[in-house]
Amino acid sequence: MTVEEIERVTVLGAGNMGHGITEVIALAGYDVTMRDIKRELVDDGYGSIEWSLEKLAEKGHLEEPPEAVLSRIDLEVDLEAAVVGADLIIEAAPERMALKRDIFAELDEYTDDAILATNTSSLSITEIASATAHPERVCGTHFFNPPVKMDLVEVIYGAGTSDETAETCHAFVESLGKTPIYVRKDVNGFVVNSVLGPFGDEAGWMVSEGLYEIREVDAAMVFQRGYPMGPFELGDLTGIDVGYHVRKEAGKEVPPIVEEKIEAEELGRKTGKGYYDYESGEGADYERGQGESVDTLRIEARMINEAAKLIGNDVATPEAIDTGLRLGAGFPEGPCRRADDLGLDRVLEKLESLHEESGAQRYEPADHLRELVESGRTGKAAGAGFYEYGDEREYATIETTLEEGLLEITLDRPERLNALSQEMAGEIVHALDDADLDEVRAVTFEGAGDRAFCAGADITGFAGIEPHEKEVTPVHKHVAEFPRPTLAKIDGYCLGGGFELALACDLRIATEGSNFGFPEIDLGLIPGGGGTQRAIRMLPDARAKELIFRGDHIGAERAAEWGLINRAVSESDFEEIVEEFVSDLTSGPPIALRKAKRVMNRGRDADFETGLEMESQAFGLLLGTEDVAEGTAAFSEDREPEFRGE
Ligand code: NAD
Repeated sequence: MTVEEIERVTVLGAGNMGHGITEVIALAGYDVTMRDIKRELVDDGYGSIEWSLEKLAEKGHLEEPPEAVLSRIDLEVDLEAAVVGADLIIEAAPERMALKRDIFAELDEYTDDAILATNTSSLSITEIASATAHPERVCGTHFFNPPVKMDLVEVIYGAGTSDETAETCHAFVESLGKTPIYVRKDVNGFVVNSVLGPFGDEAGWMVSEGLYEIREVDAAMVFQRGYPMGPFELGDLTGIDVGYHVRKEAGKEVPPIVEEKIEAEELGRKTGKGYYDYESGEGADYERGQGESVDTLRIEARMINEAAKLIGNDVATPEAIDTGLRLGAGFPEGPCRRADDLGLDRVLEKLESLHEESGAQRYEPADHLRELVESGRTGKAAGAGFYEYGDEREYATIETTLEEGLLEITLDRPERLNALSQEMAGEIVHALDDADLDEVRAVTFEGAGDRAFCAGADITGFAGIEPHEKEVTPVHKHVAEFPRPTLAKIDGYCLGGGFELALACDLRIATEGSNFGFPEIDLGLIPGGGGTQRAIRMLPDARAKELIFRGDHIGAERAAEWGLINRAVSESDFEEIVEEFVSDLTSGPPIALRKAKRVMNRGRDADFETGLEMESQAFGLLLGTEDVAEGTAAFSEDREPEFRGE
């Protein structure tokens, strides 16, 4: 079965995951049948899909009316009717092996060439597949909760899964607009949960050993290391019992503090109390500045060790692991990338000393980690670690491509709505500094994923820096002064530092559903990347102040009416209109464009006479260029000019 042959999909289960997966599949244009064991359950799931589609429509994220998406969804209670004729079946029934095996055995009877996928998060794919006569057609497709929002899907091989089946599932996930990663062996926890395990586990040991307080560890991981949540806060959110059972079943030792919570039945948010007290309304009340002395490397070294085991055992590549943890767990960067920054030798030393002190197996360094260090691949500083670092700089937070004179810079942190971190700002500056002006004729900026251009500055990225150091990076200035025309392609949220980045560009084109605003005021701040000054120069006084004082969003149409953007266009016309702009910019005379940009930017802040003088100097200078000779010749010969910037 190839992905092109997939026309009809069936989802088994209309619960939390089942209805979400059904919605995602229908949104991508497939016909999909959702089946549960009782009519009420199917109806409930359908109701949740209706609600979710309404929300998406309200936010302008739907390209068709919700009814059109719903019309592709069939509901069923009878299993046979639900699966006969389906090309792909995704099971999202409760997490019980016996139940899943029964379901797969039955599926085997009703299907002959369909792919049978399971959404299990912790059971063995191989064992589920062995209930069928065709394990080669069985695969894991692990969606994350909630499927509509979460970009990641792990595509997991069971022992008997054929490449064809896994590749078709991978391509299918891509066709949903999601990001698949291969998990090439059926290991417990797959990739994301394997690496995430030590995050909570090691934090638990550190507190159990009496070294630190819970709040100190959470504060250190969030404010110093940029994780979206502290390990204990995360444990409370997912349920302390969930991680506990998974680890027990895998035969792993559990930190005493976890045992205590289980005995006291304080399981987290769901019981009102866990590591933190939610009944009192205080919740996870750790603060910046707590836990300065926490040995965060202990936790990170264990996660990196887990990643190294996966790589050494050919379960996943460093890229897949990093993508998985960024998209699946909201990590600020993947563990392999982080390890290369930290230095693998440091990581190995940390594990060795912990292993020596405690004798505990959990600290035993992975063979692959040792091999990398022994072969001199100790990380970025050495030129290679998990990744290779050649002369070409590898960016972690942006992607760049250069084609036909256009440098495209994609802000690539879709899991954080492309929030502008310090690292990203540094990488943008580097990419612009690195650009060869003989080749680059124009630059576009856009955001990865389909939700945001850039939703603001990444507050966690600024963590750990004292206020006086927290100077705003020169990225906005760099963009504004780049000697080639720049254009922001905005599709989705364009807020705060992201809005400032767009305003620093020369031109802005946005889809109609995009949103603009300066929410800084709600944090007791003001825009700090040139936003106040650009706004007050671009807009009438009252409009600029409305934006900055109120912190409200405005839509693309109003932004266009106010003159903040060049065009607000429909989703379907977006690329075409951008292309029209870009083609004028890349084929235009480079020196004249550069001069025009400079005299207009500088002249705006000078008095009129000075501005005119700058213009006439630039004009005089341009008269002597080859480009002007070419432009006038082309005009008289009635052909397109070919400007070479000479
Ligand atoms: P859920 O309990 O919300 O839903 C399961 C649904 O399956 C129920 O409505 C149940 O009636 C139905 N069901 C039972 N037997 C069935 C059958 N034979 N055919 C069809 N439907 C049947 O559970 P969930 O949270 O949606 O989880 C489903 C699967 O997804 C589990 O394997 C779980 O481990 C996995 N998963 C869950 C999450 C999560 O965060 N909830 C995340 C990733 C993966």
